[in-house]
Amino acid sequence: MPPIIIAIDGYSSCGKSTVAKEVARKLGYTYIDTGAMYRAIALYFLQHQIEEKEEEQVARALEHIQLRFVKNVETGIPEMYLNGVNVEEPIRGKEVAGKVSAVAALPMVRAFAVHQQQEMGKARGIVMDGRDIGTTVFPDAELKIFMTADPKIRAQRRYEELKSKNHSVTLEEVYQNLMERDAIDSSRAVSPLRQAADALLLDNSYLTREQQLSQIMGWAQKNIK
Ligand code: C5P
Repeated sequence: MPPIIIAIDGYSSCGKSTVAKEVARKLGYTYIDTGAMYRAIALYFLQHQIEEKEEEQVARALEHIQLRFVKNVETGIPEMYLNGVNVEEPIRGKEVAGKVSAVAALPMVRAFAVHQQQEMGKARGIVMDGRDIGTTVFPDAELKIFMTADPKIRAQRRYEELKSKNHSVTLEEVYQNLMERDAIDSSRAVSPLRQAADALLLDNSYLTREQQLSQIMGWAQKNIK
């Protein structure tokens, strides 16, 4: 049973990472949250006041950014480290959410992140979620899923998640941020958010976690020969 690549793309906050983590755990695969990589880069840009329009500044900044996933020993889930520091908490805050899509639209930033993602997937046996995994990072992934859900439901879920982690946000702010990120992600010149022609569509607006998991596991089993 050679391991495969499962690419999960889709709109912001439609539960990709929740289900991707569970699928990876069930299959004994590595889970890679590519959004965390773009968020960590955006955090660095905020910390160092990097101007997105200044190409030289961006190039120099990327030379100083080291991204690494380290497994949390208690949860078994990989966490994002930026230059040796665990940044899981700050990368989920609203400052980063307001900046990340503009940073992720920069061709230099995409080349930097995509190269690392392709290296991580060389041995296969991964579940990777993002926006361009099935179209750009692994166009040869054995299983591609494109997830979507009603925007109001997505905003409500994200709002509840942020509140449970004590982030101070309103539902309206979360909704606006999702709409803005989706618009930037879908309209950028390099690797815009698109459903790959061979991706299976999963609208989870009214599906429970268990239903989503069993749908994806069913698709995965068919592809793992
Ligand atoms: O997945 P998450 O919502 O954490 O991603 C944060 C942002 O990173 C997205 O809104 C998008 O701008 C960017 N992103 C991307 N390509 C990916 C993953 C995320 O452009 N593969």
